[in-house]
Amino acid sequence: MVKTENNSLLNKKATGRKVTRVWDSTTTTEGEGFLVHRSFPTRSVLDVDPFMLLDEMGPMDLASGEAKGAPDHPHRGFETVTYLLDGQFEHRESQGHSGKLSAGDVQWMTAGAGVIHSEMPEKEFARGGGRLHGFQLWVNLPKSDKMIKPRYQDIKSDKIPIAESADGRVKVKVIAGESLGKRAVIDTRTPIIYLHFTLQPGSSVVQPVPQNFNAFAYIVGGEGLFGADEKRAQREQVVLFGNDGNEIAISVPDEAASPLDVLIIAGVPLNEPVARYGPFVMNTEEEIQQAIDDYRTGRMGKIEF
Ligand code: FE
Repeated sequence: MVKTENNSLLNKKATGRKVTRVWDSTTTTEGEGFLVHRSFPTRSVLDVDPFMLLDEMGPMDLASGEAKGAPDHPHRGFETVTYLLDGQFEHRESQGHSGKLSAGDVQWMTAGAGVIHSEMPEKEFARGGGRLHGFQLWVNLPKSDKMIKPRYQDIKSDKIPIAESADGRVKVKVIAGESLGKRAVIDTRTPIIYLHFTLQPGSSVVQPVPQNFNAFAYIVGGEGLFGADEKRAQREQVVLFGNDGNEIAISVPDEAASPLDVLIIAGVPLNEPVARYGPFVMNTEEEIQQAIDDYRTGRMGKIEF
């Protein structure tokens, strides 16, 4: 068998960043009570600056009429990124924007100064039932961007670049940043990398991540070896990398029973004070109080259809 650059890594010591911590996501409910696996915030990990939250919704197999969502609620001061793998969601908000999200689609919503929105299962999907599976990531905005005008980037699955290794055994969907020669179509306010990798057993990849970026991995399926120290982690676990190098190594043992499905998320830390309360992420308690007042008095608008 011809040895490719990709699997030669398995035969020598992996390079790049070491893993500083591995933890289990916690199971909780959101919105009207749908199940999520929460990477953070947890009791011991509040955030991974600039990321404030990562939830995996499901996967769950819903009977007819069983699908639940998140009815009208506000956001201010950060971005919510929804990436759906299965099912259909419908989104409506106070500035009049609405849209549907299907399997593979991404919505990058910059809440900025404030939106009130609902994130609900699409009506036909809810009626018929089916599998619901996706992710929501919260990206904090720098102080200078917290009160900007809201913006939506609704990206259909077929517009999200997919790259693969020379041997075809590593595939990556490039949601933000760059990987295996393909660059994302989504723009971000601060430099962000958001990649969804699938690695076949016996394959490996080295992803460049500048040293000043904080980086973590969330394992969606299977298991893999992470970082220079080849720490093992599996489905529903979170891997935090140190800032001790400018690349991240991931590999899957030959004997693995299934491919590794993993999100790699990284960004430049803001290093600013954080005041958070429910759906608001600001810098000070006064700004949180202001957000609550603005929401209560209708200054963030309301959904009218
Ligand atoms: Fe929301």
